[in-house]
Amino acid sequence: MATSQKLSDKPRTLIVGGGYVGLTVAQQLQKKVKEAGGVVTLVDPLPYMTYQPFLPEVVGGHIEARHAIVSLRKHLKDTEVVVGTVTAVDHEGRGAVVELDDGSVVELPYQDIVMAAGATTRTFPIEGLGDQGVGLKTIEEAVYVRNQILDNLEAASTMTDEAAKARALTFTVVGGGFAGIECIAEMEDLIRSAVDANPRLSQSDVRIVLVEAMGRIMPEVSEEQAEGVVEHLRSRGIEVLLNTSLGSATEGELQLINMADKSELDRFECDVLVWTAGVAANEVGNSSGFPVDERGRVKASATLQIVDDEGAPIEHAWTAGDVAAVPDLTGAGPGGFCVPNAQHALRQAKMLAKNLLAARAGEAPTEYKHESLGAVAGLGLYQGVGNPMGMKLKGFPAWLAHRGYHGLAIPTVERTARVASNWINELIFGRDITPLRDLESPRRQFEKAAARAKKK
Ligand SMILES: Cc1cc2nc3c(=O)[nH]c(=O)nc-3n(C[C@H](O)[C@H](O)[C@H](O)COP(=O)(O)OP(=O)(O)OC[C@H]3O[C@@H](n4cnc5c(N)ncnc54)[C@H](O)[C@@H]3O)c2cc1C
Repeated sequence: MATSQKLSDKPRTLIVGGGYVGLTVAQQLQKKVKEAGGVVTLVDPLPYMTYQPFLPEVVGGHIEARHAIVSLRKHLKDTEVVVGTVTAVDHEGRGAVVELDDGSVVELPYQDIVMAAGATTRTFPIEGLGDQGVGLKTIEEAVYVRNQILDNLEAASTMTDEAAKARALTFTVVGGGFAGIECIAEMEDLIRSAVDANPRLSQSDVRIVLVEAMGRIMPEVSEEQAEGVVEHLRSRGIEVLLNTSLGSATEGELQLINMADKSELDRFECDVLVWTAGVAANEVGNSSGFPVDERGRVKASATLQIVDDEGAPIEHAWTAGDVAAVPDLTGAGPGGFCVPNAQHALRQAKMLAKNLLAARAGEAPTEYKHESLGAVAGLGLYQGVGNPMGMKLKGFPAWLAHRGYHGLAIPTVERTARVASNWINELIFGRDITPLRDLESPRRQFEKAAARAKKK
């Protein structure tokens, strides 16, 4: 393993992960670190940050996929951006092992490290799930779900085999948290528009199912609001199945289980299966050698320093966001820790950057404490629900609050402008229901042409 000659040899502040936390920390630190003769290096396997709260809107087609992501290179001019994956950390030796995009491996020495690798989709060993399902954590997954829905609708409209048609027109989401509810609501909205536009299909051909293992959905809002959302989704024809789990998904045949007595509740065939039933801290927390809690989250103090098993800060090691177990000093977080959301990620990132600079200046770090501003979800065009700033909202005002908040919260003014232009275009021209074909085999047409030329 070698240190690449092309990478900076200045004292390095290494950020592991260029998501919400990583991008924000780099923005806050890059100029100051550069002026002090150092370099901020951000490592991520992706060259962009994904604004995950917009993934359901990408499924729904309100936002163009590229506009829900933020280019790291374009927006971090004074940061050394490295597209690669951190696979191990030797904090005593102050070095991290990075697998680069070209497959080579380098060790990056560092002065300070910021662990910001976020979370990944958490699944369970359910037969067939790995073959049939798809998550909703990445922009590629959102694009895939959207295309799969639109492709299925188009294919079903010419099918004569009733069983095959029913399978193509059945859409299932497992997980009734914020992401799952926003996703199924956007899916329903998209499906209804696409069916309306296709004279060979009727709304009654379509089956849309939400599966949730608990007795309620959306723990972030009040029980009363959650019940209101269930009613609302059911009024839109979505089957909301509470206290129900996915038993298996072998070859697209879904088995649903009643959680109360573990009996089989239903069995049906379905192509589109979206899994949003939970996230887990990124495993790099574990492989880094830093102490992690029982859920794999890097142990942290309220000052956003990584701590040892006795709770003492480890020098020059920092963490925030979904990968970290940050104490919630307001006492509101489950188990005493901040919940994994963008609201905390952004604020923790800003405080982490301040504290890192304070530590370098020999000053005491500040503790992170943030009272939740509430949550607000979009449920498709003009529909929403939430409790921003303690106000109970539903319908159009909630939808407006959702768009207003996230439209401004997506990093960079440039992205806000692009997203706003998507929304304005949709208001003028209506919803875009065009699927993109052949994304997994884009050379198909060319290969055909080449094969024809060979035959001649
Ligand atoms: C569908 C969906 C909807 C959501 N909606 C909301 C919402 O409405 N409101 C809200 O507050 N929150 C919402 N969230 C949660 C919010 O997006 C996250 O809490 C937030 O993105 C966490 O930021 P982060 O920087 O910790 O992690 P992330 O933004 O996930 O970034 C982690 C980064 O680390 C990178 N990485 C992973 N492993 C490595 C490695 N080994 N080496 C280097 N880099 C690595 C990843 O590629 C990624 O870019 C939503 C999430 C989802 C999935």
